[in-house]
Amino acid sequence: MNLVLMGLPGAGKGTQAERIVEKCDIPHISTGDMFRAAIKGETELGLKAKSFMDKGELVPDEVTIGIVRERLGKNDCEKGFLLDGFPRTVAQAEALEDILVDLNKKIDYCINIEVNQEILMERLTGRRICKQCGSTYHLIFNPPAKEGVCDKCGGELYQRTDDNAETVANRLEVNLVQTKPLLSFYDQKGYLRNIDGQQDIDKVFVNISNLLGGASE
Ligand SMILES: [Zn+2]
Repeated sequence: MNLVLMGLPGAGKGTQAERIVEKCDIPHISTGDMFRAAIKGETELGLKAKSFMDKGELVPDEVTIGIVRERLGKNDCEKGFLLDGFPRTVAQAEALEDILVDLNKKIDYCINIEVNQEILMERLTGRRICKQCGSTYHLIFNPPAKEGVCDKCGGELYQRTDDNAETVANRLEVNLVQTKPLLSFYDQKGYLRNIDGQQDIDKVFVNISNLLGGASE
């Protein structure tokens, strides 16, 4: 099963990714892991990527795509793979199509976990941290017994600037703009499957499992 996983921050992509790779027994391939492995292995492309990263520059597409090509050609991808964080652009998605043609593979599904913006905002702005002991809370998922006060030490809870509404709204907007053309690309190819990510985690996974179980290997 060859899969691409998409979803905005807060959609629960990480949790579902873990479950999918376990169910399908395929590697979870994230861009970060791929870079780290290529750099650690000191492959030609890994060293090239490192030279850009050391300068604080973006790794050019040709290098990233080369690293993806190497990774997808490895033996553990024979049964399939779950790509997470790649492709990010239509150009990368097109390059991926070429790679897969060369490897005699094709994408089965692009799974997009959908959650509306309002709920994502609630999920992403709910984190609170204790000023004294650093314990973390979440207003929805793990609220303190008394508002604004740490259960463990009585310290004051605060919100990191990364988690404030304006920053989060910006991050979501950037992601949304970036993702839209990619989703249409996969929709046109017939690979796109939207999954309702607003249900509880187990139900989301049941929906994904039904999708994966129904496809021919
Ligand atoms: Zn505390």
